[in-house]
Amino acid sequence: MSLAKAYAAKAANEPLQPFTFERRAPNDDDVVIDILYSGVCHSDIHQAHNDWFPGIFPMVPGHEIVGRVREVGAKVSRFKEGDTVGVGCFVDSCLKCQQRDVDREQYMMEQLALTYNGTDRDGMPTYGGYSDHIVVREGYVLSVPDNLPLDAAAPLLCAGITLYSPLKHWKAGPGTSVAIVGLGGLGHMGVKLARALGAEVTVISQSLAKKDDALALGAHHYYASSDPETFVTLAGRFDLVINTVSAAIDWNAYINLLKIDGTMVLVGIPDNPVPVNAFALVGGRRSLAGSAIGSIKETQEMLDFCGEHNIVSDIELISIDQINEAWERVVKSDVRYRFVIDIASLK
Ligand SMILES: [Zn+2]
Repeated sequence: MSLAKAYAAKAANEPLQPFTFERRAPNDDDVVIDILYSGVCHSDIHQAHNDWFPGIFPMVPGHEIVGRVREVGAKVSRFKEGDTVGVGCFVDSCLKCQQRDVDREQYMMEQLALTYNGTDRDGMPTYGGYSDHIVVREGYVLSVPDNLPLDAAAPLLCAGITLYSPLKHWKAGPGTSVAIVGLGGLGHMGVKLARALGAEVTVISQSLAKKDDALALGAHHYYASSDPETFVTLAGRFDLVINTVSAAIDWNAYINLLKIDGTMVLVGIPDNPVPVNAFALVGGRRSLAGSAIGSIKETQEMLDFCGEHNIVSDIELISIDQINEAWERVVKSDVRYRFVIDIASLK
């Protein structure tokens, strides 16, 4: 076992504070990683506030981890000491069933060991990336391309894959028209990835405030959802609408922006059910769908794609003692576009 330094919420809704705990001794197939950077995801806050399900406390959040391999178990073949690696939203899953075999293990919620607020293979709670090191089974460790800045690469592990997976699944590419709804941590990754995949990219955000940012990130077009004309102008325009907003919006208005056979995909999770008008779907053979993160195989594919296209997140680097203030700003959407913790500040 090894003593880890971390920041934790001791109970739901409590501010994060310094915390130490024991990481498990590595097994033959484990990789020990010194964490360099950890992204701050809005879901860290939801989980520490018990918004979705009762959490396990103390909770060490963080599932956008980039670090360097300190040590590997005897049976580890793909990694060696000094490699630059990443860990995303889960650290273990079912290893044998058919779903896993077709690389969609992220949807097997019962077997999935979340990177934090979950249960590890030894039956103990998992603790995430707001800590100085982590022990992870080899099959859940990802290679981070060396040409990427490692701090800005951290958010690829959750925000990046959350957008890459639906863009690939619904075949965004040359000749397709994609709308990204909301320009936050998720949305700004969606713009960069959709553009690099070759799609025509439109951002729909609440006001015109982020127009210059959106165009600089790679969007071809920008519209404000507060302007009713937007929904007239863009009617029937898109093959794919990806909704990154977790606030309540008029889904029917957005479904009407789809072409025949178009799909609207939710990656944000609103608190309450939203009524959908069947005519909006039936009238254009349109689909309403959801998508969550991605498989390990797809996450590696995304990292390699980002390495080839030099795609990282736009970040604000913070020290660990700024984390509570950063969380307050995330809740107010006051970040362009992702906070990343410099874990050196913890040591
Ligand atoms: Zn996340």
